Amino acid sequence: MTLIVQKYGGSSVADAERIINVARRIIETKDNGNQVVVVVSAMGNTTDELIKLANQVTERPSERELDALVSTGEVVSSTLLAMALEAMGYSAISLSGAQAGIRTDAVHRRARILKIEARRVIQELEKGNIVIVAGFQGATKEMDVTTLGRGASDTSAVALAASLGAEVCQIYTDVEGVYTADPRLIPDAERLSEIGYEEMLELASYGAKVMHPRAVELGELYNIPILVASSFTGRPGTLIHGGVSMEVRNKVRSIAHNLDVAKITVVGIPDRPGIAAALFEPLAEANISVDTIVQNASVNNITDLTFTVAKSQLHEAMEVVEPIARSIGARECVSDADVGQVSIVGTGMQNTPGYAARMFSALSKRGINIQLISTSEIRITCIIDESRVEDAVRVLHRAFKLDVKQ
Ligand code: ADP
Ligand code: ASP
Ligand code: MG
Repeated sequence: MTLIVQKYGGSSVADAERIINVARRIIETKDNGNQVVVVVSAMGNTTDELIKLANQVTERPSERELDALVSTGEVVSSTLLAMALEAMGYSAISLSGAQAGIRTDAVHRRARILKIEARRVIQELEKGNIVIVAGFQGATKEMDVTTLGRGASDTSAVALAASLGAEVCQIYTDVEGVYTADPRLIPDAERLSEIGYEEMLELASYGAKVMHPRAVELGELYNIPILVASSFTGRPGTLIHGGVSMEVRNKVRSIAHNLDVAKITVVGIPDRPGIAAALFEPLAEANISVDTIVQNASVNNITDLTFTVAKSQLHEAMEVVEPIARSIGARECVSDADVGQVSIVGTGMQNTPGYAARMFSALSKRGINIQLISTSEIRITCIIDESRVEDAVRVLHRAFKLDVKQ
C-alpha cells in the first residue's frame, strides 16, 4: 500500500467547516487505497493569538513555557480533525509531536529535529488508522515540548515523510502552488508546474513563505517529492523534486521578497585579524542568524561592517553587538529596521553574465536605491528601503518577463 503524507496549513483548518472539508479530502486519499499520515497547523491565527496572550502576561515569557503554550494550537486542530474523520465513519487517531516520536534538540522556538522514532505512527497505520500529527512541535529527551520555528509544520510533514518512506509529501495551502512571485502581491504571477529543490530552497530562505526552508532542505536530502497545492480546489499544484528538465532551468524562475530584515552597521572598526570572529561568534552563540555581510575596504586601517538579521531579532542582536563594538574600539553601532530585500532566483543565472546588470538597471529606472547586494550561484538579492520592496517585486517580475506565460 502506498503511504502519503499530507499537510494542511492554518487557513485550511481555520474553522469547523474547513476542518470537515479537509476530512473529506483525506478520506478521498484513503479510499483510493493509500495509507495516510496528516500533519496539521494551528487553526487560522491561533499561534499569533497565543503569543499575544503570553505577552500580555509578561514582556519576556520563558521560551520553554512559550513553546508549551503555542504547541497547544496544533493539538486543538489535530484532535478536531480526528473527531471529524471518526464522525464520517473512518478510524483516525491524533498524536502530538512527542507521541509521534519527533525528538528535537532543546533550542526552544527554533528546535531542530534530531530523529523520529516512528514506531507509534507505524503501529497506528498498521491498525488501519488515519494518523493525524500535530505539526510544528517535537520534544526533547526530557520530554519538554519544543517548537520548530514559525511556519515549520511543513518541516514536520517532510521529516515524517522521509522517516516513513512516503511516496510523496503533499503540502496543502491557500494558494494553488509555487508562483513566479507572491500571488497576493502580483496578481498576474504564474504558477510553476515544477521546480527543483535548490531553487525552492533559495526562494523559501529569501521570503517565499509558501514553504519552510528546512522542509525543502529535508526534501532534497531524502529525495522526497513535495507537491504544493490548494486545499480549496482540485488544481494540479507545483511539484518540487530533483529531476527538473534543463530547459525549464534556463532562466530566472521566481522573485522572492522579505520584509523581516534589519540592518546593523558597526562603524569605524580597527582593521585587524579576529574582529569579524569577535562579532559573529557571540551572535551565533545567541542563536541569531546573520545573513548578508559586507565589509568596506579599509581606509587608514579603519573599516565599517554591515550585516542583516531578522527584524524580530534586531533588539537581541544589538544587545550582543553593542558591548563588543565598544570593546574592539569601534566608533559606533547603528541599526536600521526600515529595510527589506528582494531576490531573483533561477539556476539559469549560473555562469551566465547579465542578470545582475538587468536587475540593477530595472531597479534604478524606478528610482529604487540599492543599499546592499548579496548573491549565491543561483540568486541575486538587493537590500532596499522597506517601503520600496513591493514596487521592486513588480518591476522585476516584468523586467524578467515572468508575467508572460511560458
Ligand atoms: P500555510 O498556512 O498553508 O502554511 P502560508 O501562509 O505559510 O500558508 O504560505 C502560503 C502563502 O505564501 C501564500 O498565501 C502566499 O501569500 C505566500 N507566498 C509567498 N511567495 C509565494 C510564491 N512564490 N508562491 C506561492 N505563494 C507564495
Ligand atoms: N502554527 C505555526 C505557525 O503559525 C506553524 C505553522 O503554521 O506551520 O508558525
Ligand atoms: Mg506555512
